[in-house]
Amino acid sequence: MTRSDAGVADAELSVVAPVHNESENIGPLLQRLLPVLEHCAPSFEVIFVDDGSTDDTLDVLRAAHEKDPRVRALSLSRNFGKEVAIAAGLDHARGAAAIIMDADLQHPPEAIKTFVGLWRDGYKNVFGQRTDRGADSRLRRMLTQRFYRLFGSVGETSLPEGAGDFRLLDAKAVAALRTMREHARFSKGLYAWIGFKSIGVPFEVEARAHGSSKFSYLKLTNFALDGLMSFSTMPLKVWSYIGVATSVLALALATFYLTRTLIFGVDVPGYASLIVSITFFAGIQLLSLGIIGEYIGRIFAEVKRRPLYLIEERIGIAPFLQDEQL
Ligand code: UDP
Ligand code: MG
Repeated sequence: MTRSDAGVADAELSVVAPVHNESENIGPLLQRLLPVLEHCAPSFEVIFVDDGSTDDTLDVLRAAHEKDPRVRALSLSRNFGKEVAIAAGLDHARGAAAIIMDADLQHPPEAIKTFVGLWRDGYKNVFGQRTDRGADSRLRRMLTQRFYRLFGSVGETSLPEGAGDFRLLDAKAVAALRTMREHARFSKGLYAWIGFKSIGVPFEVEARAHGSSKFSYLKLTNFALDGLMSFSTMPLKVWSYIGVATSVLALALATFYLTRTLIFGVDVPGYASLIVSITFFAGIQLLSLGIIGEYIGRIFAEVKRRPLYLIEERIGIAPFLQDEQL
């Protein structure tokens, strides 16, 4: 396929939706999305990124492209995770603005009208802000809240409340994101990091149309760790403070015991305090080593400089970046 038959810059808006086993949701999504886009812009494309689906998602996407060539798709060679799937979609979004959304109808397509309006007013980073998390379980909501509070206090970038992937990015912001090839991708942090004239648009999260969430608590925990570690060196620094505090404590104890021995003579008992302090410090050392290990693991993953993703099939989308084997 050449560049021209993929229609370079033939769309004003590019919608990017990562999909992982969402075959039942694609039809209903398009049914609601296409009229909104037709209303908002003279031309558009919808790029689905099939993130290693094991159901018939890819067949559904092929059929959708046959029916409407504005619906396009990339199929990744395996499941790379939602964050990387979004990156793949943005790499191929040629519109003057890109809209990122989930394909499970939790992100109401109608909100795009407001997004586009604000973009035409000059905003380059228009993000949806969920007004409530009613669709999530109570535990997940509580953990999410804790995480954001922690991120707010130690992260080097502040995240707007309730902002997620559902957003519109001007081509300039998309270009900025394209330069960020990190593997441990915490998109929310990246969107905040790039800056640009931003504004939030409240929206209500709907219940998932079909299927269930692809994020287990384990996946969410890893995601949260990625976020903290990509945007903060606090977990590394904190050990210097703990080290200073324990050294001061040890010095005070040494002075105390030295004085006591000089005045009252040698006193043998102290087994319990010895064991407690040995195990306590062994624990602290292992914990700090583990945290350093987490960062080294991430450094290792980045220095290998593997591509972010591999594409197995393109449906209506031509390769157009030279520096990656896209
Ligand atoms: N998704 C993906 N790759 C994954 C997991 C999820 O592309 O490994 C997609 C999924 O198909 C959906 C979006 O990311 O379009 C959001 O996923 P989900 O609804 O499971 O997440 P939640 O809404 O629970 O945060
Ligand atoms: Mg969802």
